Amino acid sequence: MSRVYNFSAGPAMLPEPVLEQVREELLDWRGTGMSVMEMSHRGKAFVAIAEEAEAELRALAGIPEHYEVLFLQGGASLQFAMVPLNLLRGKGKADYVNTGSWSTKAIKEARRFCEVNVAASSEASRFTTIPPQAEWRLDPDAAYVHYTPNETIGGVEFHWVPDTGDVPLVADMSSTILSRPLEVERFGLIYAGAQKNIGPAGLTLVIVREDLVGHAGPGVPSMLDYRTHAEAGSMANTPPTFAWYVAGLVFKWIRDQGGLAAMAERNRRKAEKLYAFIDGSDFYHNPVDPACRSWMNVPFTLARPELDGAFLEGAAEAGLSTLKGHRSVGGMRASLYNAMPEAGVDALIDYMAEFERRHG
Ligand code: PMP
Repeated sequence: MSRVYNFSAGPAMLPEPVLEQVREELLDWRGTGMSVMEMSHRGKAFVAIAEEAEAELRALAGIPEHYEVLFLQGGASLQFAMVPLNLLRGKGKADYVNTGSWSTKAIKEARRFCEVNVAASSEASRFTTIPPQAEWRLDPDAAYVHYTPNETIGGVEFHWVPDTGDVPLVADMSSTILSRPLEVERFGLIYAGAQKNIGPAGLTLVIVREDLVGHAGPGVPSMLDYRTHAEAGSMANTPPTFAWYVAGLVFKWIRDQGGLAAMAERNRRKAEKLYAFIDGSDFYHNPVDPACRSWMNVPFTLARPELDGAFLEGAAEAGLSTLKGHRSVGGMRASLYNAMPEAGVDALIDYMAEFERRHG
């Protein structure tokens, strides 16, 4: 067996010690004689696993008591609908900031349920910048303000948290959650698909302030009502048990690494190294404004796009996997989530330098 450095944008690399522990416990979880996959979600063993995972996350991210932590399904994409269905509270309009493909999708879905005010957009820069908050046209009567702290495809990341006063701030943190300390109290609601920095696909995390739960209208299916899940401890129906368990192991692994501040330091170093190399080369190019370059997803193009295929082939041979850019933008993309070791970034840079020497 040989593991590669996997630069996939998600599902993405998981920490190796976590996978090893999963393997160790796979057939017999701590003397129960069964796999976590085979356990009743209402049994003592799984309830303990679930509670421990939540406690671990709360400690890691400093999530206060008055926030609910929900372990849901349906992906971040379902949250594009659940957010308006639950948070409009009779207001009929919401503010959205558009910084790329995922914001655009969230906006499109929200338009099914309410009037969307696009308070700011970086479309004119082809989504390579973030409009400064001074330019946002926020509506004081909006039910909430939605933004995407990290655009996974464009590689554009907020390195600051917007200030929306009393209007709840909602963040799609799918591709940046747990990459750095989380100032939970600045948000009304945070959501994230698990398959990047949390664990296996199939689990969606929602962190929501208590007072924002319980406002879904009468036509909202009960399974799309945050209250249903909050009241049932995310066990209104069978939750994604295995993914929940693995997420708990990932949270512990992050703690063992020194917590979110240590993750941030490492992630910043990894990303800065790669950007410095790209900027120092005439062969590779990243189009994003340096002030808002993502630590998690680094898109780049080759000066000679006809070499893309050869680049990817050689990378795969060197144990560098899944560097192909998103189909909508082409080029390359290196995703550097928490589980990507610094050695993986070093190996990528070495390979890129060598490729440039041969073809540049
Ligand atoms: N938002 C962002 C920022 C994402 O990166 C993704 C997935 N790549 C999604 C939403 C959609 O997530 P899911 O596939 O879990 O629905």
